[in-house]
Amino acid sequence: MEYIPLNSPNLSGNERKYLLECIETGWVSSEGPFIEKFEHSYAKYVGRTHAIAVSSGTAAIDIAVSSLKIGEGDEVIVPSFSIISCINQILRVGAIPIFVDADQKTWNMNVDQVGELITAKTRAIMVVHTYGLPTDMDPIISLAEKYELQIIEDAAEAHGLVYRNKLCGSFGTISTMSFYANKHLTTGEGGMITTDDKGLAERCRSLRNLCFQPDARFIHEELGWNYRMTSMQAALGLAQLERTSEILQIKKLMGNSYNMAFQNLNSFQLPIKTTDYAENQYWVYGLVSKLPSQLSGSQARKLLESNGVGTRPFFYPLCDQPVLSRYGIKSEGSCPVARYLYENGFYLPSGTAITTSQIQQVIERVNNVFT
Ligand SMILES: *Cc1c(COP(=O)(O)O)cnc(C)c1O
Repeated sequence: MEYIPLNSPNLSGNERKYLLECIETGWVSSEGPFIEKFEHSYAKYVGRTHAIAVSSGTAAIDIAVSSLKIGEGDEVIVPSFSIISCINQILRVGAIPIFVDADQKTWNMNVDQVGELITAKTRAIMVVHTYGLPTDMDPIISLAEKYELQIIEDAAEAHGLVYRNKLCGSFGTISTMSFYANKHLTTGEGGMITTDDKGLAERCRSLRNLCFQPDARFIHEELGWNYRMTSMQAALGLAQLERTSEILQIKKLMGNSYNMAFQNLNSFQLPIKTTDYAENQYWVYGLVSKLPSQLSGSQARKLLESNGVGTRPFFYPLCDQPVLSRYGIKSEGSCPVARYLYENGFYLPSGTAITTSQIQQVIERVNNVFT
């Protein structure tokens, strides 16, 4: 039986050609023409003034949080159903993540809960577009305007996602992307920051590059990181960006095929196909058990793995992360929906190189195991 991997990247366009160009021209560091080209093309694609390429999506969030000068005692509202990258830098600077529970249907943060979490200490709302469906941005934007808060938009999973006619990655005061191998576009490892604010963009460029100063390179007023992207990554990124519509189509075809085929699978909740503000782009295709006492997510995964279907569990709620106790934060148990999703959710093979025959095999095996 052929094992169907959870994810394999689709690198069948100009990726090889551009990468060879790096080797032939010697541009392998973060200098050279590909970085700027990738940044410009990316900014243009999302419709923003500035794009800053970095070494990962996590690096992009670290820099974004730091560029907004979020510091000790500041509060940042963060969805609990997300990856640790969202809170790394918040915790490191002594700021406080305030967790919002997930919405049971969309798996995004429950936007109705955000307003009541705002206090005099709130500086920013972090939004994460989760698993291929955008967060409902309008209520967040109104709150941010009303209370003068920054929006940090984590669009790592949201390349090409459209919220009411506007691309994700264009909503934040500052927005971040990831190009990890399982994202819609990949550079292997990599990330991007986008913003329309020139001052913020300059700060991000400086933070990415150790806060070297243009006129006094080795004299430092501030600490930054070496979070630079290499030219080789940017070469891959440019080739991927050219193929955005093709790649998004593969994902949609995958998601729609799964959705159709699993309609009668009564034990699982499926991803929502459309809401009044967006269509699902299926970054990953998730299933959530509706009968937790009979079939948990990990039990379902075991059955599938033994039938040659690659799976991965859903996010562990950030509010329950053991590491929080080291920072004096007691939020355990505060987000029951995120906890439910973690315990009962998992996703199926969803990579951009997935073939129609692999999709068919996943469908057959899932249906065989669970009906
Ligand atoms: C993948 C991901 C990240 C982290 O990106 P890396 O490039 O792996 O560091 C951050 N946020 C979300 C929502 C992600 O899915």
